[in-house]
Amino acid sequence: MDAQNNAVDDLKKDFAGSVLTEGDAEFDNARQLWNAMIDRRPTVIARCRGVADVIQAVRFAESRGMPVAIRGGGHNVAGHAACDAGVMIDLSGMRAVHVDPARRIAVVEGGATWADVDREAQAFGLATPGGLISETGVGGLTLSGGFGYLRGRHGMSIDNLLAADVVTADGRLVRASADENSDLLWALKGGGGNFGVVVRFEFALHKVGPEVLFIAPIYYLDNGPGPIRAWRDYVAQHDEELAMICEFSTVPEDDEFPREAWGKKVFALVGVALGDAEEAEKLARPLRELGPLVTDFSGRMAYADIQRLFDAQTPFGEMRCYWKARYLTNLPDEMIDLAMENAVNAPSPNTISSLWNMGRGVRAVPAGDTAFGDRSMRWMYSADGVWADAADDAANIAWARESWSRAEPFAQQGRAYLNFPGHGEDGSLTRDTFGDGYDRLQKIKAKYDPGNMFRFNQNIAPAD
Ligand SMILES: Cc1cc2nc3c(=O)[nH]c(=O)nc-3n(C[C@H](O)[C@H](O)[C@H](O)COP(=O)(O)OP(=O)(O)OC[C@H]3O[C@@H](n4cnc5c(N)ncnc54)[C@H](O)[C@@H]3O)c2cc1C
Repeated sequence: MDAQNNAVDDLKKDFAGSVLTEGDAEFDNARQLWNAMIDRRPTVIARCRGVADVIQAVRFAESRGMPVAIRGGGHNVAGHAACDAGVMIDLSGMRAVHVDPARRIAVVEGGATWADVDREAQAFGLATPGGLISETGVGGLTLSGGFGYLRGRHGMSIDNLLAADVVTADGRLVRASADENSDLLWALKGGGGNFGVVVRFEFALHKVGPEVLFIAPIYYLDNGPGPIRAWRDYVAQHDEELAMICEFSTVPEDDEFPREAWGKKVFALVGVALGDAEEAEKLARPLRELGPLVTDFSGRMAYADIQRLFDAQTPFGEMRCYWKARYLTNLPDEMIDLAMENAVNAPSPNTISSLWNMGRGVRAVPAGDTAFGDRSMRWMYSADGVWADAADDAANIAWARESWSRAEPFAQQGRAYLNFPGHGEDGSLTRDTFGDGYDRLQKIKAKYDPGNMFRFNQNIAPAD
């Protein structure tokens, strides 16, 4: 114990951030993640303030043969950002974003959230594809793909990743770009947190808004699949302009909704239409007239505000969660019926589930260009169990797993979205998802992390 205390004291020397161990006042707060089910106790939490801290923490772990968990925004549902018996490198103190409006590039620190990026980029009417809410971390979301409202036109987050600075397992700072260590840049585009701590991301920016049209008509599930079928056919014809989700949920007791709808199962057709007001309105109109509405939240608003709309629905550290998503080759009527049936059977009123069209921007990138791999899937289905009480764990996890399994007949070669990986318990999911790219990833893993220091993720075993 003394040796360990001495080593931790060494780590604290010159550390600009803070080094926390069991018993420190901030320790429990620092190990808390978004999913309230996750309760892990790292040996040390290194709350880094800069690259030098990250290097020091990695070297500390390396010298003691300890594994490292990396915390970006802390939103990974599997809880990969914390570990038992290891070093948790917490990047939440590294959130600076610098935008170069002339070159349309954002340089983003490894612990930033999408709110941080939107805030800086939108000051110049610019944005890069993130997710659908603002509080998720840029780090985790980007490294496994990144699906947001802009994917139809601008692809996934990884498709906009120009370069990254990474602290690798030997404590070196390595630049990954098209010209330097391009193998590493390729691997970061979908290969997750396997290769080191990304301290800086560089993203391409695009002109977005600031005001855009938010599309959100809500329909009763009881009225049947008609609106979803019509939506499916419509977005297939407009898959550059409209990258949307059909989200199933239960109406909360909230005055924003008509009282007669409280507690009813519904689905929302949610997306963003860019472009000028008249064109966007014309594009969205047919989706808002598909049957009797519960309500319609559509309207023009600032892009950054849309990104924040769902933040309150998913508060940090309060709910228990198990989410699992898979890609679908197609969306036949039978899959729509199944998604509706699953939604009806969800044991918790907080649970959501969703169908996502991929959009042209996602499909535009050839399979070999990124570690993410094949882009031929047209759709994604996600079963997102959310509940409050530990006594309900088994029923809710079983629902999500079963909903996911029942979609198998429509699935794309057993591939899953690795940012919604259940609790990460199914190791074969990673291999099946990477498919042909897995061998190459193993070689790159062996080059940058031969001892598998970074193993709390969708783990890629280093090649022998
Ligand atoms: C409420 C909610 C909404 C979501 N919405 C979307 C969405 O719209 N679109 C979408 O695509 N996904 C979405 N996700 C999934 C999200 O992409 C993943 O949960 C992702 O892992 C979150 O990233 P994070 O940095 O917050 O996670 P963390 O839990 O902090 O990190 C997860 C893992 O990512 C890696 N990692 C994180 N940062 C770094 C870094 N700087 N360097 C190296 N590795 C790093 C590590 O392996 C880490 O264990 C959502 C999740 C939640 C909970």
